[in-house]
Amino acid sequence: MAASGEQSSRVLRPRSKVLPEHARSHNRALVLQTLYRTGLLSRADVARATGLTRVTVSDLVAELIAEGIVVERGPSEDVRPGKPATMLDIDRTAFHIVGLDLSQHAEFWGAVLDLDGRIISRAQVPLASSTGEDAVAKVVALVETLLGQTSTPVLGIGVGSPGVVDLAGVVLSAPNLGWAGLELQALLHDRFRLPVIVGNDANAAVLAEHSFGDADSDLMLVKIGHGVGAGLLVSGTPLFGSRFAAGEIGHVVVGTDGGAACVCGKSGCLETWLSTPNLESALAAAELASTGAEDAGIRRDAVLREAGQRLGIALAPIVGALNLSEIVLSGPVALLDGTLSESTIETLRRRTMAEFHGDLTLRMTSQGDDIVLRGAAVLVLSARLGVS
Ligand SMILES: [Zn+2]
Repeated sequence: MAASGEQSSRVLRPRSKVLPEHARSHNRALVLQTLYRTGLLSRADVARATGLTRVTVSDLVAELIAEGIVVERGPSEDVRPGKPATMLDIDRTAFHIVGLDLSQHAEFWGAVLDLDGRIISRAQVPLASSTGEDAVAKVVALVETLLGQTSTPVLGIGVGSPGVVDLAGVVLSAPNLGWAGLELQALLHDRFRLPVIVGNDANAAVLAEHSFGDADSDLMLVKIGHGVGAGLLVSGTPLFGSRFAAGEIGHVVVGTDGGAACVCGKSGCLETWLSTPNLESALAAAELASTGAEDAGIRRDAVLREAGQRLGIALAPIVGALNLSEIVLSGPVALLDGTLSESTIETLRRRTMAEFHGDLTLRMTSQGDDIVLRGAAVLVLSARLGVS
């Protein structure tokens, strides 16, 4: 478990046994995942939960204890006859993780997190309109600051970047930061000699919701901010797409009735209705045009309802195609919660098959503003330990 490019081991929640040639690393992840999720278990409990033999479990546990990842926590308190079993857990204090969120509008955010995704300390660096090499230098400086905040061994550096990111952590395109074909994962790995995983911010966010937010395994997370993007999990597995742009729904044209001109050159893209800056300016224009407090309220509602409808129109075919059961919104709560999300779910219900999609739910994220930081930690947990 050394270098950066460990995408083949980007396992999410292994559930069953596999072929012998892959068995050892798979079974190891299975043991770790069981301990990570449940905590305190005996070797026999782990064997029962995973379907592995006692011998295999004992062998893997010995290896994990030697590596300092798993610890013995003393005898079971079960009052059963015979020698009490020794309880095991992941050593949740053995490592820290450095997480970065590069998707914020005016700052890069960073945090030191523990293995349970809790934030231990934070740091930010103002972006001040930096792009290209300058923006990269700020990422490096932020990692340096964060590494200086912990004396615990660091399991890895996770980064949630805006734009299209491939599985080798190359930022193929992030127009706002002026990045194209930037080998960010390799660059940070060379600089810090630690495992680094760089992923798209919305893909990181959906992992945080899945791991820490008690979410379903068929889930779409729609992240609304400077732009609009989505992260998709199908049967607990992230969907990246043929060219790593799965979930890039912001520049999909919604409807056949025109719409505002978009920065990408098309008209009526989802972002023209829904990105935070566009939504805020539409609300400001509605307020200006209003004739009084009551009228202002009606106009505000109309703007939010229309934005919600457009989101529903864009999401309906995705919900239909993938039979998703849960949609989670992440972004400014004051704008998204209420009229807008109600209008989205009404539109979705009208446009999908009630008997198969009727139990679809839509809610705000439980992860707040730290969703990408925590998701960046899941990228590291998943790649390094096979847990999430
Ligand atoms: Zn566009």
